[in-house]
Amino acid sequence: MPSSIGYDVVFEGYESSMAPTCPHGPTLLFEKICPNSAKISRFFACSASRDRKLCKFYQDFNEVVTEGELKKREIFNKNQQPKYDHLESVERFKKLQNVPEKERIFCKYCYKLLLQSERKNHNKKHELQTGLTLDQLSKPSELLIPLENNSTNAQYLFSRKATEFILDTVQHLGYERVLCVGAPRIHEAIQNDKNKKLESLLLDIDHRYVQFYPPDKYCRYNMFNNHFFDGEKSRDICTEFLQRNNGRGVILVTDPPFGGLVDVLVTTMKNLQETWRHAIETGKESVKLPVFWIFPYFFEPRILQSWPKFTMLDYKVDYENHDFFKSGPNSKSKKKGSPVRIFTNISSNLIPLPAEDGYSFCSICNKYVSKENKHCNLCNSCTSKDGTTYRHCDECNRCVKPVRIHCKTCKQCMLPNHRCNELKSGCYICGEMNHKHRYCPHRGKKFGGKKRKFDSLLNDPGETLVKQNTEQASSKPKMSDTNDADFQETTSLKNNLEQAPCYNKDNCVSIKKNSVNITKVGQRSRTAFVNVSKRPLKHKVSASKRFRRKKILQFSFDAV
Ligand code: SAH
Ligand code: ZN
Ligand code: ZN
Ligand code: ZN
Ligand code: ZN
Repeated sequence: MPSSIGYDVVFEGYESSMAPTCPHGPTLLFEKICPNSAKISRFFACSASRDRKLCKFYQDFNEVVTEGELKKREIFNKNQQPKYDHLESVERFKKLQNVPEKERIFCKYCYKLLLQSERKNHNKKHELQTGLTLDQLSKPSELLIPLENNSTNAQYLFSRKATEFILDTVQHLGYERVLCVGAPRIHEAIQNDKNKKLESLLLDIDHRYVQFYPPDKYCRYNMFNNHFFDGEKSRDICTEFLQRNNGRGVILVTDPPFGGLVDVLVTTMKNLQETWRHAIETGKESVKLPVFWIFPYFFEPRILQSWPKFTMLDYKVDYENHDFFKSGPNSKSKKKGSPVRIFTNISSNLIPLPAEDGYSFCSICNKYVSKENKHCNLCNSCTSKDGTTYRHCDECNRCVKPVRIHCKTCKQCMLPNHRCNELKSGCYICGEMNHKHRYCPHRGKKFGGKKRKFDSLLNDPGETLVKQNTEQASSKPKMSDTNDADFQETTSLKNNLEQAPCYNKDNCVSIKKNSVNITKVGQRSRTAFVNVSKRPLKHKVSASKRFRRKKILQFSFDAV
């Protein structure tokens, strides 16, 4: 019997515009499944922050909120907003560009640009940086210390090389405009390009950018609920940007925090796509908004569930301020390189990857692959996902990571030090392996015989998903290693309810070549986190420790 609590985000069955709001805009509806207490509960919680310290919003689905409470909440939400006046900031920025360097001041504590005249009223204890050059002013991503330890922001900046690769590719593909969602460095590089080949608009939750970009270059935005903090005017700027020139020539480049729920991000991107689609000439309604979604490789199955037409490029995206995501001597992922990839709906054969970094074209797969990604004739695919050369296992009938060995007990390739039969994913309710809780035959019985109550929850395109995944499994054997991502599926939602021990679950889609034995997957998602310890987490781990363990950037993949 599974002992863990599961969390889902629920998209259907309620009007999302009716969701209560927290300081981060409309909240999301979560469903909590407690197998032991036989309980399913639903509640609204913050879309952007899963750290209760940062946003403690919690409202039971059925809670009736009085007018007075709503009013209080509105005031609270308003007070929680960072204080800025975008237009005033623009003015200050212009002035700063025109004063001598020594009069250009930056407060390292408030992350605020200051004019000489503002200095005397500024807190004397704060460390100030003076003498900013124009070059420094044009590179906010270097001046502003990344908010990496803040789970809401999870700011990790691209290396120069990755930035250049992304921009070169965008230009090579002939795009003219880039909507940078959570990608300040891409925006910055475009804005600083002397040749002005591209235009860009930054959507990001980090309000510090208001100081550097005018409202038509930066909108404060929450990508988990498509919320524009500065209202309709701000939304209109984005709409105009997407729809300009009949929607031609625009690409969305996004690098969300890796703890972000895939389905939630997909919903947002689909919303942006709908906005864009309004400008598309009639007859071309089926075309898709081109997307580069930068995310770790082990999310591939999940992303493909929502977007079967997406492909994952082999290109390894390096970061500047993270040991796991950067290459070079101090990298913690020296051999494999960064685990972060680009997911795209643009044909991968159109996207050349740099030969000087060892990438080459596989004419059978019709795509560029990394040097360690060898074509397997049995799988008929270049099978590596993680940056190592996979090995074909005859018993599993697919390629597996080289560190794995075939285990007769588990009947699949496993890590050498695994505990047999422990790492499998199953139904939260009954523990069976062949379905997820949403399709559990015991669901109605166990939850007080009120099966009907949940029927409405089951109207998602589960069948369609299964079908899509089936198609993928049979036509795309390159999904070969989707079964073994060693990560934990749970959410870091630190709500005020009990924190149950997580139990390890494999990736929720298990696709085996030729065996089309696919676990049914729900439309809602749980966040995927890497299991740091590789062992199932034991009980008695403090909530904060658990949270830290699960914090998205503490990966240890197959750290063997
Ligand atoms: N590699 C990118 C930065 C990615 S870090 C680059 O170099 O440009 C994630 C980015 O998403 C950060 O800029 C962060 O501020 C932003 N972000 C985090 N949560 C967000 C949210 N809920 N909505 C919009 N942006 C968010
Ligand atoms: Zn919030
Ligand atoms: Zn193979
Ligand atoms: Zn095997
Ligand atoms: Zn085993």
